[in-house]
Amino acid sequence: MSHSEYFRLGLIGWPIEHSYSPVLHLAALKYLNLKGEYELYPIRPIGEDKSKLEEVILMMAAGELHGLNVTIPHKLSVIPFLDTLTPVAEAVGAVNTIKVQGGKLIGDNTDALGLLNDLRRFLAKNRARINGQTRTALVLGAGGSARAVCWALIEDGWQVTLAARRIEQAEKLVDALSAQPFAVPKLAKISSVHLAESGLAALSPDLIVNATPVGMVPDLNRSPWPAGLPFPQTAAVYDLIYNPQETRLIQQARYAGLLTESGIGMLIEQAALSFYSWTGCRVLTSVMQSAYNSVIAANSSA
Ligand code: NAP
Repeated sequence: MSHSEYFRLGLIGWPIEHSYSPVLHLAALKYLNLKGEYELYPIRPIGEDKSKLEEVILMMAAGELHGLNVTIPHKLSVIPFLDTLTPVAEAVGAVNTIKVQGGKLIGDNTDALGLLNDLRRFLAKNRARINGQTRTALVLGAGGSARAVCWALIEDGWQVTLAARRIEQAEKLVDALSAQPFAVPKLAKISSVHLAESGLAALSPDLIVNATPVGMVPDLNRSPWPAGLPFPQTAAVYDLIYNPQETRLIQQARYAGLLTESGIGMLIEQAALSFYSWTGCRVLTSVMQSAYNSVIAANSSA
């Protein structure tokens, strides 16, 4: 697509009225002097409204839309509507970005690389405090984003333990990831435990990643970390949640002296990767970051 064209972009999910994605993508379009829009398409779960999801996907197939982000609850349910998946989306088993190429609808997953980019930045920034051998991770939650997180960490050479409140859910995810051809030589790199004090007490991971929604707005006082369980003293904590900017988990971990990071960096990294796949233009993540900072500042003074 040439840069003189108009980019029709958007997001499908439910609920999405508070999404920061329009802010990030509109800032990128403006900074790069590209014409376009980023619209929200609130679509209920497929069991409740299959026709609306089909309608928006057909708009893409007809060339009326050029790029879509996909969020909860459609990261899996869009797959049957697509012609093909990128190798990452195939391996992760979830789609957060759809593009059109040669008339075909292609599902991609930028969450995985988005997390890795931001995690590497976080670890590099804190090199002085984080041991260079840091390589064992504990991932809390076994839903859609945990899948992308585990895939990315395994690909990056981490030894991963997956903790879920329903151990069978974690086991299923471990089996699914282990069944991927890419993971065969890395089978020993992922295992599962129960997300409870008894399951986690013996572990001393270098990194804890929260991939549950516990602590997200409006649930501000809740934490996925079991009450009464001390944090491993040398761990860093990365929370995928970005709203609020500082979750209860982040507060608890920082109080215990641990290094912490919120999920806004990952959100921005995955957005920049999606933007590139639609427009062919790279945007500095700092452009998206300052647009996000302006919205947060405006909201806090309102
Ligand atoms: P999801 O598919 O619904 O999975 C959530 C997981 O958390 C499930 O394993 C669920 O277990 C578990 N869980 C839910 N409530 C729990 C509780 N009270 N205690 C223990 N476990 C609980 O959601 P997702 O797509 O993975 O998203 C998870 C979080 O990541 C959300 O807050 C989302 O906003 C955030 N996220 C951030 C980014 C980013 O760019 N920063 C990207 C993607 C996602 P059950 O199945 O038993 O309920």
